Amino acid sequence: MSRNGFGKRPLIGCTTFRQTVEKPDYTIDMVGLTPTYIRAIEKAGGIPILIPCGLPQDDIVQIFNQLDGVLLPGGGDIDPVIYGGQMHETVYGISPERDDTELFLARHAVANDKPLFAICRGVQVLNVALGGTLWEDVKLLMPNGTRHAYHGEFPRNHLAHTVDVDPNSQLSHFLGIGSVGINSLHHQGIKKLAPVLVGTAVSPDGLIEAVEAPAHPFALGVQWHPENLVDDSPAMLALFEGLVEAAAIASQPQLA
Ligand code: MN
Repeated sequence: MSRNGFGKRPLIGCTTFRQTVEKPDYTIDMVGLTPTYIRAIEKAGGIPILIPCGLPQDDIVQIFNQLDGVLLPGGGDIDPVIYGGQMHETVYGISPERDDTELFLARHAVANDKPLFAICRGVQVLNVALGGTLWEDVKLLMPNGTRHAYHGEFPRNHLAHTVDVDPNSQLSHFLGIGSVGINSLHHQGIKKLAPVLVGTAVSPDGLIEAVEAPAHPFALGVQWHPENLVDDSPAMLALFEGLVEAAAIASQPQLA
């Protein structure tokens, strides 16, 4: 079991979404996270810490400094204005406070060598935070783009398409090389890759589905949802174990 520099299991901070929930007689504003992320972090040996979005930046820095690693989960779309994109009829779920918090955390984690795992919306946040852009809708706007949104009619662990993993990537240490079946629950994707990132897996239609920052101990992003595959695939669980292991190593006390 991975331990951090204080002999404890690593603390993995995970951002959250805000949602208005309709009850029969009233509506209530909630902050939350799909529990599959929490379970995947726990299963990998980490302790999940939920971070509310919209806190002042100084407060986010204080939280960040207590964390051993960061996980950016899935969610709605980033405001296209941020990456110089166009509003499109399929864009949904824009949250300025979530954009601000996650873009800051992504930049801060990369700049400070804090282990970072970015999932679905998270990989898009990571790319935009570092200067990349997105297809506002992959199927409708990317040349030869195919369907990537398999919500609703399939279970979330449905293996919708394959990705081809780059053998020279950190990702390949966890997934192996060659073709890997993955779930696909997104409609946006990476258009222009941020300069400090490299693409590490590509889908058959040519979309970059995984990225990493090569000089960083662990800054990985995937466009699919490995948190829904940890019970099906030891390789997908290994991605979370990689985050937790990197988080444990990153927070070891420095020898004088
Ligand atoms: Mn996909």
